[in-house]
Amino acid sequence: MTELLYQTDSYLQEFEANVLSILPDERAVILDRSAFYPGGGGQPCDFGSLTVAGVSYPVHRVKKQGDSILHFLGGDDSLPSSGTTARATLDWARRYQLMRTHTALHILCGTIFRDYGALVTGGNMEPLKGHLDFEFATMRGDLVREIEAAINKEAQIGRDVRVNILPREEAFQIPDLIRTKINLLPEGITHVRTIEIVGLDLQADGGTHVHNTNEVGKIRVADYKSKGAINKRIYIEIE
Ligand SMILES: [Zn+2]
Repeated sequence: MTELLYQTDSYLQEFEANVLSILPDERAVILDRSAFYPGGGGQPCDFGSLTVAGVSYPVHRVKKQGDSILHFLGGDDSLPSSGTTARATLDWARRYQLMRTHTALHILCGTIFRDYGALVTGGNMEPLKGHLDFEFATMRGDLVREIEAAINKEAQIGRDVRVNILPREEAFQIPDLIRTKINLLPEGITHVRTIEIVGLDLQADGGTHVHNTNEVGKIRVADYKSKGAINKRIYIEIE
């Protein structure tokens, strides 16, 4: 089992951990703790490096498997042994871009719901660009600039972004959460992690975010597409 350090500290760029086990066929290692985001909820996984016993390995892919995080090592150095101590460093430039992008998408989601009552149905991102899908029948081209102005205002006024980990029953009593996908959470999950943009948006979410919306920077609504009468996709880019 891996302790998920990124869940409570998204700004952790370097950490030490013990190598719990090795999967030689996949060139993957499991650590007792990790700040590497394994991907999920539209946010891609982190990259970085792992140094064990003087050997530095690139980490070129990370994924969650059950309660563990697998770190896939590049290069052709022989794999470390379990029980050793690893020093890990994230590719921070990439991760921080993803944090800014992820928070920008939550600003978009919260603003569209507040101003037009449209619900989000999905989305995806890469560093500095992403899109969200909405049930937004009244979306049209001349709203693009209006939406862009509204989301930039939310970024610039500097709203705090808070992380909370709540017991499931408590989370299910928050009206704002019920409109998102919380109802789809599997039975076995006892705690729900939430991301709140204070005064704007609250969602059950596993990703990594900036501390304040003013870290996002300038957001551009790059495009929108009709995916049918009701479903519309809105694309954003961050400068
Ligand atoms: Zn999210």
